[in-house]
Amino acid sequence: MTALRTGSATRWLLGAAALAILALGANPARKAFVRALVGRDGQVPTDMFLGTSAGPGLAPAARVRVVLIDGLGAAAASELPALSAVCAAGQELRIDVGFPTVSLPVQAALWTGRTQQQSGLQYRATQLAAPPPGASPAQVADSVALAESHPEIVRSFGFAATRPDPSRDPEDPEAWRAAFPEQAIAAVASPSRLVHVHVLRVDEAGHAAGAASSAYAEAVRGADELLGRLRAAGPKDALWFVLADHGHRPAGGHGGEEPEIRIVRGCVAGPGIAPSPTSASIHVVDLARAVADALGAELPSDARGRPWADALADPSPGVTLPRPGPVRVGVAGLLLALGLGLGVRADGTRKLWSRVPWALLLALLGLGVMFGWPSLSDPPVFAPRGLQLWLACVPAAVLALGLGLAGQSPRAQLAPALGSLAAALVLCRAPEAWLLPMLGVGEAGPPLMPRWSATVSVLFVVVRSLAEGVALAWVLGPLLRRLRSRTRA
Ligand SMILES: [Zn+2]
Repeated sequence: MTALRTGSATRWLLGAAALAILALGANPARKAFVRALVGRDGQVPTDMFLGTSAGPGLAPAARVRVVLIDGLGAAAASELPALSAVCAAGQELRIDVGFPTVSLPVQAALWTGRTQQQSGLQYRATQLAAPPPGASPAQVADSVALAESHPEIVRSFGFAATRPDPSRDPEDPEAWRAAFPEQAIAAVASPSRLVHVHVLRVDEAGHAAGAASSAYAEAVRGADELLGRLRAAGPKDALWFVLADHGHRPAGGHGGEEPEIRIVRGCVAGPGIAPSPTSASIHVVDLARAVADALGAELPSDARGRPWADALADPSPGVTLPRPGPVRVGVAGLLLALGLGLGVRADGTRKLWSRVPWALLLALLGLGVMFGWPSLSDPPVFAPRGLQLWLACVPAAVLALGLGLAGQSPRAQLAPALGSLAAALVLCRAPEAWLLPMLGVGEAGPPLMPRWSATVSVLFVVVRSLAEGVALAWVLGPLLRRLRSRTRA
């Protein structure tokens, strides 16, 4: 064998190894990323500014009733009779619950006035070991919370009593579910200063069948009917807060930052609330301030919620959402440009149109048509095998295979895809929250950022499928060339 042939064989082997690593490693890497995303707590520094205000908050109320209908989207909430009656008696709200739109973290913001980024509770689903510092329920001696299911959430915030209570309530979840409405009505009617009712049937129907389903509509009707009974039973002097913690996608799912999920309908009525014909936009941390003021509770010093009148006057849209800073955006732009540049230069001898990363564009098109812009509300973004996302990329993988067999360099498609992935990783804080901590540098946290965290999960699948197409071309190309030269001879 000549030196030349040995050299090209080595080059081929190295190329095959690199492509195999990309094709086989992209999904395990994606799985690890998703685990980091949902599996750990961690604060995110933000420069949120909700204005400076020193106006008075709500006056203390003798009784406060907080009803949270988990998973009730604004659209489904708009026409409900009992909910609308609360709004008509007081103030209608559009509440921005912040990001991510996950129940326990949103409730942490409701009871402490600190955003998900401040508390570091972002994708948390399991019960907190101790109530967060400054939680308002822990400051009310006779506070009571009842949960239709998932009692770990109400048990996290320092209520004096929570139900179901293992010492007196049915252990069987279905038996408790049947008893829940009557128990909730009795609690609301009691003289307790703070009663919180966490209704979960709507969220459960949303996960099982989606917000477009009849099961969801039925659960919404049932929750509103229960609200009507709670209101009728409650003390006349009670101040009512009724809200949701997030909406649901038509096919089910929540967690992302999209307004249909993040902005919910709320109604506040009772002593101190001037009935208003117009709806106001506020943030859940503002509502936390109102609840705490009504209870005479003291929120943590870094809670940013504004006094009631100030909050109603200034919507500050989206201000509590974390966003990548200018340096991060700049670095991401450079990485993307580098990837695109390397791709274009990979086939320097070819015409311009053949240097466009067509397979990458086809993958993005396929994903866009099937899933829209990536969102953490969309279950396929979390699926461990990523099969649904991968199927949307199959045409792109086939195109990458064809272009490879036609002699295109693997870099032409893969460099732009890897550049995009690197850019999205930077935008969602993956370098300092995920990658460096794996090497023992810095503190691990969830690489969570509106829009970009979901994009990373999707781009891992894009890299995987393009690498599969290109790798196949890399292996088949030499065989086909040999076959062709044989047939010619
Ligand atoms: Zn849910």
